[in-house]
Amino acid sequence: MQALVLYPDGHYQLEEAAEPALGHNPFAPHDVLIQVAYCGICGSDVHGWHVKEGTRLSGPDQPTVGGHEMCGTVLAVGPAVTRVKPGDRVVGEIVVHYCGECVNCRAGKVNICVNTPPMAGRIHYTVGGAFAPLTVWPDRSLHILPDHVSFEEAVLMEPTAGSVHCLYERLQLRAGESVAILGPGARGQILLQLALAAGAKPVLVSGIQRDARVRLPLAASLGADRVVNVDEQDLIAAAAELTGGVGFDVVVENAGAASAVSQAIEIARPGGRVMISGGGIRGGVTIPLQTWPVIVKELTLYGEISHNWSSWHTGLEMVAHGQIDLKPLLTRVYPLAEWEQGFRDAALGDDVMRVALKPA
Ligand SMILES: [Zn+2]
Ligand SMILES: [Zn+2]
Repeated sequence: MQALVLYPDGHYQLEEAAEPALGHNPFAPHDVLIQVAYCGICGSDVHGWHVKEGTRLSGPDQPTVGGHEMCGTVLAVGPAVTRVKPGDRVVGEIVVHYCGECVNCRAGKVNICVNTPPMAGRIHYTVGGAFAPLTVWPDRSLHILPDHVSFEEAVLMEPTAGSVHCLYERLQLRAGESVAILGPGARGQILLQLALAAGAKPVLVSGIQRDARVRLPLAASLGADRVVNVDEQDLIAAAAELTGGVGFDVVVENAGAASAVSQAIEIARPGGRVMISGGGIRGGVTIPLQTWPVIVKELTLYGEISHNWSSWHTGLEMVAHGQIDLKPLLTRVYPLAEWEQGFRDAALGDDVMRVALKPA
């Protein structure tokens, strides 16, 4: 089969790859063969493709089929599989390798298993992901889609689970808290909807010039109290105005940029919580951190990565019951052969939310 393969140095190549088969993978006999409907192009995928000098970048140990925002249909199941059957429409958790015995695994936090390095835990850096017509996934990491949730929505379930993990599980967002989300991509729009669903008020979403055309207007239409283009407007002033000069209870840096980290620290209120989440598993930025505001405001800094079973459960229930609307977020679909255009749109486009590849 043709598949988009990620190399250890971070570059991608479309090439012939072995078809995954039941019994011939580490998940057997709990393995599930899936026909991929869509696989979304995540910011963390694009990080690697857009290799810039000085960028901290890691890849898999050996060439591996990339792509993790998978949705598809079960084709066949291994002999020990009980949770899904052929014909089921599914989405999959990406953290599939963990020890199950460490302090974090025993607490359900398999995404930060102390015995499994980050990339060694994730399917798209090990066994292979879903930038291909076929993929295998372990039974325990799959979730069956409700009938009325389309694949066009389901391809956004992985960032939804990640956003649930970020805002509800890590930051423990409560009703009535003020929230700023720096970065209005697909994940920013999901974070916004989760914040509103939890009763957060007011909610600000910021972006850059590139976001002015489609993303910031979408955030406004989804209910953000204020949207700010930081290239043209003063974020600090807008934050002060919206919060009565106090600053935000919760700030999520969702852009992966050094400037956004500094801004996040600046607009958090004394005693506030700041999440650094935009860097992604293969990125991260190195910045000179101004510690003074962290000290005198007694800020709490958070990190987060991926998601756990509970994040998927919450996310799927909310999508199934219409509390999160994923329909406006898939803007463009390309066949595998046109992956480069898809990556270019995802990395640079000013008129896209999520771009997905349709391998079959
Ligand atoms: Zn993702
Ligand atoms: Zn563990």
